[in-house]
Amino acid sequence: MARMVDESGRGEESQNPERQEPDRGSARWGPQHAGARELANLYSPGKRCQEWISVLLCFSLMAFNFLHLLANFHLGHLWYILLGIAAGILTADFASGLVHWAADTWGSVDLPIFGKAFIRPFREHHIDPTAITRHDFIETNGDNCMLTLVPLANMAFNFLTLSPAEIYHLYPWYCYLFALGIFVTLTNQIHKWSHTYFGLPRWVVFLQDCHVILPRKHHRIHHVSPHETYFCITTGWLNYPLEKVGFWRNLEDLIQGVTGEKPRADDLKWAHKTN
Ligand SMILES: [Zn+2]
Ligand SMILES: [Zn+2]
Repeated sequence: MARMVDESGRGEESQNPERQEPDRGSARWGPQHAGARELANLYSPGKRCQEWISVLLCFSLMAFNFLHLLANFHLGHLWYILLGIAAGILTADFASGLVHWAADTWGSVDLPIFGKAFIRPFREHHIDPTAITRHDFIETNGDNCMLTLVPLANMAFNFLTLSPAEIYHLYPWYCYLFALGIFVTLTNQIHKWSHTYFGLPRWVVFLQDCHVILPRKHHRIHHVSPHETYFCITTGWLNYPLEKVGFWRNLEDLIQGVTGEKPRADDLKWAHKTN
């Protein structure tokens, strides 16, 4: 199992890990790292626009669905509701791990459109883990809001068109979907909090301490170079069991065996970029 180290992967526990910034020119990580600067410059106005639209639509749909869930609540469903919520959160944690693992391990920033828009942030995050703490709400949450738009819109459509009897029947399933949607949407916000060491609201620190959302110390295990474990970043509940059974390692071996691609080749390339 990986040891606890600072964000640079140099193997020391420090009091303020997010505050250390290396000298300009010789940066091994952080905002002055040559690769990090190049990646940050690829954030375009078109991408920003896509993020704004996604956030506005997603949060409107979430509010709409939440009101309809409240309006259709029946106490008789309580255990199914709780089960649905727990399953939704677990699914979101697994999905966060799968997407994070795939983007960290495979593909390249050079891929047309997709590379710059969706793989770039993952590369930037490894060589400049503090960048996420400087992203505003829109940049942090835009992509995940886009992911959950279609399922949330589908749920809203169903609330408007199905009969009360049909909604009653599907209610626990909607609770599962809604919990899944909320936690997928908030994954990057939770991830950002796990990198924030100053000025977090008390209730966020409380949720981290209770391990309801990804704790800071827990996530630092992923930031040990070469970033090959603890990919789940929503609650982190599945990180230990998946590491125990060698889930990511086995999946990588399988894919490498079939395609011949080397895991994390692009990630390493960016990490070693010096000019
Ligand atoms: Zn990563
Ligand atoms: Zn991180």
